[in-house]
Amino acid sequence: MQHLHDDALALLALGEEPSAEESAHLENCEQCRSEISAYGRVVKAGRSTAPSGSVPPPAVWAGIHEALGLDPSLSRDPLEDQQTSAAEEAKADPEPAGVARPVSLADERRRRRGAKWLAAAAAAAVVAGAATWGVVQGLAPKSEVIASIPLEPLPSYSDEGTATVDVLPDGERELVITSSSSDAEGYREVWLISPDITSMVSLGEMDGTEARLKIPDGLDLSAYPIVDISDEPLDGNPEHSGKSILRGQLEL
Ligand SMILES: [Zn+2]
Repeated sequence: MQHLHDDALALLALGEEPSAEESAHLENCEQCRSEISAYGRVVKAGRSTAPSGSVPPPAVWAGIHEALGLDPSLSRDPLEDQQTSAAEEAKADPEPAGVARPVSLADERRRRRGAKWLAAAAAAAVVAGAATWGVVQGLAPKSEVIASIPLEPLPSYSDEGTATVDVLPDGERELVITSSSSDAEGYREVWLISPDITSMVSLGEMDGTEARLKIPDGLDLSAYPIVDISDEPLDGNPEHSGKSILRGQLEL
């Protein structure tokens, strides 16, 4: 059986109406249908994972277009619609979607040749844009939460908080801390402490009411399961002040 050409599959994944011939083939060909849906997932992932308002600007597409040496007929940013809708004051689209334009046969052939690139590049555009934006989080594989606990205030404090251990896709661990206030006489410092309180590791200062701190590689969390936020005076002494504000024990 003669399968549909890759370019045709990519165009169909991008939403093009199948011809009568293509429809007839697709009806009987599981393989081509699944290839279209695979392309579709790439395109959809590329289009949908950027948070609204963070759509890469046209310059990103222009760069990709140039780097891949794509045909001039593909110069229109595939994310243009999202950019337009992301901008509150959307300008009128000079080429409203759905309005047919006369297309020469040569144009059409060039367009089809570029279609496979378009599917891949649409995804690449978002990745490049997201990296530029620093919004990689939504696109990257998800981090995994391995522990999450409430932090309880020590006597004479009334803060509430949480501590969560995130394992990032690259294996790095982070302690995510929240607290209901950031008050301190000096500054706040986050610690991991052994169950018998004889040894401890400082993860760093905590500004504001949320902090994301790297857990040192190789640190055995089960040996340092107590999360502690202390009030540290500005006295140059790196040791724990003994004044803890919030504390909790990770269950690992
Ligand atoms: Zn087929």
